[in-house]
Amino acid sequence: MSTTETTVLTDVPQQLFIAGQWQDAESGRTLAVDNPATGEILCEIADASPADGRLALDAAVAAQPGWAATAPRERSEILRRAYEIILDRTEELALLMTLEMGKPLAEARGEVRYAAEFFRWFSEEAVRIDGGLSTTPDGANRILVMRQPVGPCMLITPWNFPLAMGTRKIGPAVAAGCTMVLKPAPQTPLSSLALAGILTEAGLPPGVLNVVPTSDAAGVVEPLLRGGQIRKLSFTGSTQVGRILLAQCADTVVRTSMELGGNAPFIVFEDADLDAALDGAMVAKMRNMGEACTAANRMFVHRSVAGEFAGRLAERMGALSVGPGTEPGTDVGPLIDATGRGKADALVHDAVRRGAKVLVGGETPDGPGHFYPPTVLTDVRADSELMRTEIFGPVAAIIPFDDEDEVLAAANDTEWGLVGYLFTRDLDRALRVGERLETGMVGVNTGLVSNPAAPFGGVKQSGLGREGGRVGIEEFLEYKYLAIPYGGSRG
Ligand code: NAP
Repeated sequence: MSTTETTVLTDVPQQLFIAGQWQDAESGRTLAVDNPATGEILCEIADASPADGRLALDAAVAAQPGWAATAPRERSEILRRAYEIILDRTEELALLMTLEMGKPLAEARGEVRYAAEFFRWFSEEAVRIDGGLSTTPDGANRILVMRQPVGPCMLITPWNFPLAMGTRKIGPAVAAGCTMVLKPAPQTPLSSLALAGILTEAGLPPGVLNVVPTSDAAGVVEPLLRGGQIRKLSFTGSTQVGRILLAQCADTVVRTSMELGGNAPFIVFEDADLDAALDGAMVAKMRNMGEACTAANRMFVHRSVAGEFAGRLAERMGALSVGPGTEPGTDVGPLIDATGRGKADALVHDAVRRGAKVLVGGETPDGPGHFYPPTVLTDVRADSELMRTEIFGPVAAIIPFDDEDEVLAAANDTEWGLVGYLFTRDLDRALRVGERLETGMVGVNTGLVSNPAAPFGGVKQSGLGREGGRVGIEEFLEYKYLAIPYGGSRG
């Protein structure tokens, strides 16, 4: 390990963060954080037990009234300072993320900027929370509507965007005046711990944010959700786990925001600018090594251009360099773990068994680290497992199609509805197909939709609610209405 890597790891806090204090787990247990590029242990951090989870929630509950009463400008400026500190530390945070998650440094730097932007965006939103005053239709009453923070929140994040999935939740919660318990994914807790340190430096009071990495997610989270004090769960992760958490939240009627899995269709029509479609495909497929909820999972390409598109995509995917994310020049890092790599490999073999052709990649390499080569499959059959499973790896699956209705039916034939992509030069078609895609987001001639200023989220089993945009803060606010008799009436 280089000296810079050792320094970054030594500097990051490795304890639980509860009530503004760094502390060991009550049980003394620790949790190993691995480097997916080597399989080696990077460090051991405190591993929260249910008792630690309880302490974290107590701290959040105790801090809630004082925090809700702070001036919006104060909350705004904390976020703004944190935004600036994150940008100042781009290199350290990017390296930390690459070490624990595997993505190439260039992508990690991009995520640091993206993550910081959520703090800037919500620092601007914190001072724009408004209400309203209106008159009832009969003129007898006034309706005064005010907004209040929903209360203590449970935030649960996945490993694939270790920093941005945290700031996308913490930003609006801080802006709205909510306190929080954050449970990051056990594979990538270091970015969240670093974030807690940065927010403290930026002036966030003790107890507002508490961070409890744990190897016992269900044991820590379920009693908190059922305990009656959490008012909101904001979860990003798989649909499968989302369903379990929704059921737990139902018992105590906890509000939820759910950012769940995807199965994105990526559609290239015969009139598309093929260069733009290829650029879009490289982003929609290869961002984060394909380990993104927005990853293009099924590439539907019009039969008249499918051969050329597949050949050129295979050339570009085959030219990418695979290696540890810390090495300069690496385009594709390792997948998160052996399970993730095994899943991608099994999906490729299943597709091939059912008739798909491999244009490039397709074989798991030997050696340490969870590497998987960029892979292009063409003529993928509709009954292949990957058509209804998130691949979550660098595998492009191309399915030829003949007409618009056919491709729309196939694209919408899934329980998920996070994002879709379409490439065409025809504006009418773009709007028509964009409207008919059953997804919460559509990329029109682009492979990237994520933006802090846009409402990110899905329909169907891809989730509930939105993160970012004007609506992002709404997820953390309640409405309260005061009925005020006026003008002598007591209606
Ligand atoms: P995951 O297995 O669902 O885990 C997500 C988080 O939930 C982790 O912190 C996990 O901790 C925790 N968790 C699991 N079971 C739990 C339980 N019973 N109670 C409380 N917490 C529990 O998902 P992942 O593998 O980390 O992430 C990949 C998934 O996230 C993909 O499906 C991807 O599409 C989705 N995702 C969606 C978005 C979006 O915005 N829509 C963004 C990014 C990722 P443990 O690992 O310890 O169980």
